[in-house]
Amino acid sequence: EQVDWPTRLSCARAGLHAIIDLDQLATNARTLVRFLPPDVELLAVLKANAYGHGLVPSALAALAGGARWLGVARIEEGLLLRQAGLTAPVIVLGPPNHARLRAAVAADLTLAVGSLADVEAVRSAASALGRPARVHLEVDTGMHRFGATPDEAVALARGLASDPLLSFEGIYTHFATADAPDCRTLRRQMERFRAVRERLLAEGIHPPVVHQANSAATLRGALGDPDLPGRRVVRVGILFYGLTPDPALLLPPGIRPALTLQARLARCFVVHAGEGISYGHTYVTKALTHCGLVPVGYADGLPRALSNQGWFLVQGQRCPILGRVCMDQTTISLEAVPQAEIGTTVIVLGTGEDGAMTAWDAATLSGTIAYEILTSLATRIPRLYQ
Ligand code: PLP
Repeated sequence: EQVDWPTRLSCARAGLHAIIDLDQLATNARTLVRFLPPDVELLAVLKANAYGHGLVPSALAALAGGARWLGVARIEEGLLLRQAGLTAPVIVLGPPNHARLRAAVAADLTLAVGSLADVEAVRSAASALGRPARVHLEVDTGMHRFGATPDEAVALARGLASDPLLSFEGIYTHFATADAPDCRTLRRQMERFRAVRERLLAEGIHPPVVHQANSAATLRGALGDPDLPGRRVVRVGILFYGLTPDPALLLPPGIRPALTLQARLARCFVVHAGEGISYGHTYVTKALTHCGLVPVGYADGLPRALSNQGWFLVQGQRCPILGRVCMDQTTISLEAVPQAEIGTTVIVLGTGEDGAMTAWDAATLSGTIAYEILTSLATRIPRLYQ
């Protein structure tokens, strides 16, 4: 990870931190393992710096909580896990970067393949290193992003199953609409995946590991076909971080967010009635207003769309954002806590139990999803682990 240390230090001095509760992450993994049938294994998805929580600490928490597998999007993320000394199986769940395959195979990362070009590139890396490469074949059953069509997948699987340089360890698919109330597309994708597996089974091909469910499908119980051979794995991201994949889907009890974004008041001041606040004067005070300046802005990942929308929590009180969120600063009303002073703690994003704005609150108010809020938290924000 490239870290701009002076900038990160400046955030730390301003009291801006993302505090990550590793015990809660481990508890989330443990709760998920208990929630799953005993024969279904948990893969923790750690893409994008573990959804903003920090790759290596989150991986350790996932394993401590009983996850058996780790999933990343890029080879470099997998290499970082190996450099940190983690030996658990790591699957690179994305189009493999052909230029980095030798490093990936040398580090014993498991590679997703979705085309003949991928298979040939992985094979040539394995051949150059003189060691077999682990592969999982992604079948595109309807997401239409990465993966082989069902017919291509059958043909590729035949080649994989008979190639001594490739260890054909797994087959999987990814759902496009598992979080939607209408389950018809989900069912169609499951049927297509099953059909591919049955065609392969008829030829005696059954890779040992099978996975299909993300968080939403896990909550819906769409874990895979128990009557077909193969160890079932679920690839869980957002639930591991303690958030629901969709506000309409309830979290299993015990699963809670693990990240709090915290700052300190940098200035407390009073603005007279009829004055505009921040760029564009999109908020005009109705009366004399106690205001606070918080050193967090859109460059930190706080969406500018929260201007005049969101709130921060100060001394247990909701303090609305006044005017536009700026690049590095945001003004809030301190009318509810006029006694607050410079240095007082401000909860920018919280776990939701205390009235703080959650990642889903921020997402809903700014027209996006909690995934984007978490993964947008800037690398300059120091992560504190407790
Ligand atoms: N599997 C794949 C292939 C993914 O791309 C992702 C995330 O985008 C996940 C699983 C995890 O999704 P979620 O965070 O909804 O569980």
